[in-house]
Amino acid sequence: MTCMKIIFSQTRRNRIGGLFGVALFSGRFFHAELIRSESSALPVIHHSKYVCELPSNHRFPMAKFPRVLHFLLQDQVITEEQVWIPEIASKDLLSGVHSEDYLNNFLNGRINEQEQRRTGFPWSEGIVQRCRYETGGTVLAAEVALQRGLACSTAGGTHHAFPSYGSGFCLLNDLAVAAKYINDSSPRKRKVLIVDLDVHQGDGTAFIFKEEPSVFTFSVHCGKNFPIRKQQSDLDISVDDGMEDKDYLSTVADHLPWLLQTFRPDLVLYDAGVDPHWEDELGRLRLTDQGLYQRDLYVMKTAVSAGVPVATVIGGGYSRDIDKLALRHSIVHRAASEVWRECGM
Ligand SMILES: [Zn+2]
Repeated sequence: MTCMKIIFSQTRRNRIGGLFGVALFSGRFFHAELIRSESSALPVIHHSKYVCELPSNHRFPMAKFPRVLHFLLQDQVITEEQVWIPEIASKDLLSGVHSEDYLNNFLNGRINEQEQRRTGFPWSEGIVQRCRYETGGTVLAAEVALQRGLACSTAGGTHHAFPSYGSGFCLLNDLAVAAKYINDSSPRKRKVLIVDLDVHQGDGTAFIFKEEPSVFTFSVHCGKNFPIRKQQSDLDISVDDGMEDKDYLSTVADHLPWLLQTFRPDLVLYDAGVDPHWEDELGRLRLTDQGLYQRDLYVMKTAVSAGVPVATVIGGGYSRDIDKLALRHSIVHRAASEVWRECGM
C-alpha cells in the first residue's frame, strides 16, 4: 500500500494543520516533562522511570524498557532529539478510569497478597512510580499523535487492568486512561479506536468501555490464551493456536479498513504487542519478525493514510533473552519511522 501523496503534498507544517491539527491541542502539551518540539522527526516517548526493581528471577522482563530505547539509538533509527519525556500520571488523570478505593490502596501499598498474586507483581513504591510514568507516557503519545500524526511510546499496553483491580502484569490501564483523557478533554467528545493486537485479549479495556460509544475496542487475540474468561470488546477476533504471518495479516486487513471508515475515529491507540511471535514464551501463535513488521506498517499506514493519527504502545512480549526481546519490541518504532518517511510527515 502506498500513502495518499495528495494529502501529504503540502509543506509539513501546513499538512499537520490541515490533516491532524483541527480542534486539537493548539500546540500545548499537558503531559510532557520535556518537549522536543524542535525535532521534526518521529516523536518517541520514553522515561528512565519506565523501569523498576523486581525480585531476582521474577519472570516479567522488566529490563526490556530501557533496552528498547538503547537499540533505537544504537541502530540510528532515531536520535536523542526525538525523545519526549512524559510527566507522571496524576491521581486525577488515573481517576478517569480507576476507582477511588483502588487508587488509594494501590498508591499507598494497601494491596493484599491475593491481589498481588493476581497482578503477578509484589507491591513496591517503585512499581507504583513505574506504572504512573508508563501511563503518563501513553497519554503524552496520544497528545503528541493528535498534533504530529504519529507518536510511539517505548512502554505501555497494560490492557488487563480493570477499574478496581490489577491483573496479568497490568496495574493501571494506560490505554484506557489515555482514551478517556482524549475523549473528555475537548468540548466535542473525540472518538478513539483501540487496535489491540497483543496476543492476549484486552479484557480490562473492553470492560471499561463496554458502554462508551466514543471508544471502540478492537482486539485480535489467541482464543486459548489468557485471560480464560474473556470480556466483550466492540469487535473480538479470536484466532487459533499456531496462526502464521499470512493468515494473521489478512485477518487484520479484513477488519481495520472498514472500522476506520465506519467508526471514523479521531485517534487510533495501537497496542503492538510482540507476543504473537513464534518464539514468545507466553504466546501461542507463529508470527515472524517480518510478519510483525508488516503488521505494524500496515496498521499505521492504513490509519495515517485515512487521516487518522496513531499513538503506539509496545504491549506484551516475553523472553528470557532481554536484548532479543527489546529488539523485537523496537519493530514498531522502525515501522513507524518508515511510515513517517514514506508519508512525508
Ligand atoms: Zn500479551
